[in-house]
Amino acid sequence: MSKKEFLKPDLSIEQLSEELVITNLKLQQANQQLQQEQQARNEMFSNISHDLRTPVTAIKNSIALLSALDDYDSNTVQPIVHLMEQRVNTLEKMINDIFFLVSAENNFLSIHPEEIPLGFFLEDYFFSQEADCKYDDRHLHLALEEYFPYTLTIDPHQLQRILDNLFTNAWKYSKSGDSITLGAFCKDDTIFIYVEDTGIGIADAHLPNIFKRSYVVDSARTPGVSSTGLGLSITKALVELFDGTISCTSTLGLGSRFTIAFPLPQS
Ligand code: ADP
Repeated sequence: MSKKEFLKPDLSIEQLSEELVITNLKLQQANQQLQQEQQARNEMFSNISHDLRTPVTAIKNSIALLSALDDYDSNTVQPIVHLMEQRVNTLEKMINDIFFLVSAENNFLSIHPEEIPLGFFLEDYFFSQEADCKYDDRHLHLALEEYFPYTLTIDPHQLQRILDNLFTNAWKYSKSGDSITLGAFCKDDTIFIYVEDTGIGIADAHLPNIFKRSYVVDSARTPGVSSTGLGLSITKALVELFDGTISCTSTLGLGSRFTIAFPLPQS
């Protein structure tokens, strides 16, 4: 902006002071937003450091136990090594998730979009999940019209990652005998894909926060299940990378539906 432009000599004093007030307000708003982002970042680092410490402490304790042993008989050693293996896997997953999230949010990911026939893609995906024995005690359903002629320009690996996160959550937060449905439909030039479960659901008070980084509703709800609170923020960052949106409707005790929406390419 040139000095002349900045001074705007054709404006009256009143107009200038009005502009000054507006600029000042905008500056205050930007400052407030920066402070909120900084606070969210601090909270995330504090949560992540806390979550990283838990498996590290378990590994340290296991090493102490192992080094205190006089006799390395396999019955004593094996459970300790097994625990260490589990904790190392948790650590690895957390580190990968954090790296992935930061890369996605800063556009460092290498993305290879291609035009994919959505009907075929979702069918393939559904059958691959059905073949996974982890879902043996859940009822899986595919809710797709027989003729679903839509295509999306998207990186198929990243779309798979999005669905994997939603499916894994549907499994984690449901129990034996519950249902998980993968569905899709098109409305008003928008493609909607959803993953619905009849699991434990989410209380209204938590719903606005679940897409925030490292937000965990309550780890006591699912004892023994690894929870980092990063899955849904990664999913959201990925969906937004392809100009999509994600939302959730849920009823506590009845289940949840996660819906992603992508605009159809203009023909
Ligand atoms: P994580 O599962 O590792 O805790 P996510 O970011 O994937 O992290 O999910 C955030 C929170 O949202 C979870 O702690 C969980 O309580 C809740 N949540 C996510 N998906 C579901 C679901 N399908 N049913 C019930 N609660 C869910």
